[in-house]
Amino acid sequence: MIEKTKALPIILKPDPVLNKSTEIIKDPLDPHIQQLARNMFATMEKEGDHAVGLSAPQVASSLRMCVIRFNGLNRTLINPQIIKKSRDLTLMPELCLSIPNKEFNILRYDKITLKYTNELGVTYKIKAKNFLSVLLQHELDHLDGILMSDKYEMQTDLRDFYNITE
Ligand SMILES: [Zn+2]
Repeated sequence: MIEKTKALPIILKPDPVLNKSTEIIKDPLDPHIQQLARNMFATMEKEGDHAVGLSAPQVASSLRMCVIRFNGLNRTLINPQIIKKSRDLTLMPELCLSIPNKEFNILRYDKITLKYTNELGVTYKIKAKNFLSVLLQHELDHLDGILMSDKYEMQTDLRDFYNITE
């Protein structure tokens, strides 16, 4: 049976599903995974232009998958993994659909290389910098049950080290 694509409710902090680590997806071509990806894009679409990334835990699925919208392109990232990261860090204000109307300045790697499988089961490597790098690291944190507010707390010493006051 083909399920209709639909926008899903966004899970908000402090729902515990957001702090759970996610399960590796064994079969990216599993119809359930395919449907979830379509529903996640529909969810972002409904949220509007500020929605550029969404992870499975944010729609109550503890699976290692996220979707992003970047430069007009939709990408499904299944089992994404950072395989290289820069020594340089970057600081950018971040937003999160699960923590509405809040902004956190988070330190992230300036550049990363990411390996992931797409919805067709093809494995890719991408190099990302600046905003895309930050976006991907934000989504990957979700897959480890880490919200930007948790990350902010974790970076107190790091901010001190770099003399960052905001
Ligand atoms: Zn988020």
